[in-house]
Formats: sequence, structure tokens, C-alpha cells
Amino acid sequence: MFESLMNEIKRCRFCQENFGFEPTPILWGKENSKIVQISQAPSKNVHDTKKPFNDQSGKTLIHKWYQISEEEFYNTDNFYIGALAHCYPGKDKNGGDRKPPKCCYNKWVEKEMQILDNQIYIIIGALSAKIFFPNEKFVDLVLKNNYLHGKLAIVLPHPSPLNRRFLKAHSDFENNRLPEIRAKIKEIINTD
Ligand code: SF4
Repeated sequence: MFESLMNEIKRCRFCQENFGFEPTPILWGKENSKIVQISQAPSKNVHDTKKPFNDQSGKTLIHKWYQISEEEFYNTDNFYIGALAHCYPGKDKNGGDRKPPKCCYNKWVEKEMQILDNQIYIIIGALSAKIFFPNEKFVDLVLKNNYLHGKLAIVLPHPSPLNRRFLKAHSDFENNRLPEIRAKIKEIINTD
């Protein structure tokens, strides 16, 4: 069931007309990856290289925030790297990336979440947090433990360089919350 869903997503071109170019669904992980990470949508560099978080956001996330090696991050025993939309959606009229198309969440992500047999979730970015925790304030979610389907769900701000203002305004995140998150990730990836 997992493999057939992955193959269906790989073949999906549902947004082609809307994007104006051929979508490239990015998939990374396996059914029982320990940590399911859900972010917003792939960047242009990820679209070009077909490797999730292969960009400046990934450098911050892996090396500065998680403080793990790329081998650990890209090891599918450890991480299932998903997103609200599997494809880079193109640029908006201001030159920023378009928002992830909602249809991808409705079409695929809900199904993936039902199949995956993970230990914890990491939800990245305010748009993703709004989907899973619509009634809570983003900053509150970032600073505490949350639960999704009975499992720990860590919420992170987006590690994009464009998000510096949030990080500056909420220094508790880097000073106090990140060390707890790092310890949890290390514990999980170092346990069989
Ligand atoms: S973003 Fe999702 S729904 Fe749209 S083409 Fe890619 S896989 Fe399909």
C-alpha cells in the first residue's frame, strides 16, 4: 500500500497547468521512518536537484538546529521528509515562492499520514502548523510539546533566511526550546 501510494504521487502532474511547468514530486522516506517531518513546499533548488532541503534552509535545519550529520538526516530509517505540497510551485508576482497548493494536502498528504508508522512528527512553518493545529497560536506551538494522532509533534518556524524576524523576536526558541528538540531527535535516531 505504501509503495503504490508513493508511485501514484511520483506520477502526479495535477498542478501542471496551474504551475505553468512540469511538476516534480519530491518524496523521501519509508513507511516506518522514525520521524515524519512535514514542511511547506520544495524550493527551486530542491526541484532542480530532487533532494529535499538541499538549500540554505536545509543547512540551517540540519547543521544549526538539529546538529546532526547529513547522513543522519537523509537516512530514511530516521526521517520521512514530507511537505504540504510535494512539488515546487513556482514564483508569485513578487518573486517569492508561491504558497503550497492546498490540493496536494487533500489529495496525498492526508493519505500518507494515515499509512506512516512513525514515532514523532516535526511540523515546519506557520502554514503547516495552521493545517494541523488550526486553533492555536503559532508561537505557542513552537515553544511547547504538541500531540498529533497521539504522538509528539514538534513545531518549528521555517528555517528560511527570510524568517529572521521571527527568530529575533522569539529568542526563547533558539536559546531554550531548540536544545530540548535536539535531545529528542538524538534520542530517537540513536534508538533501534
Ligand atoms: S503539488 Fe502535489 S498535487 Fe500538485 S502536482 Fe505535485 S504531487 Fe501532484
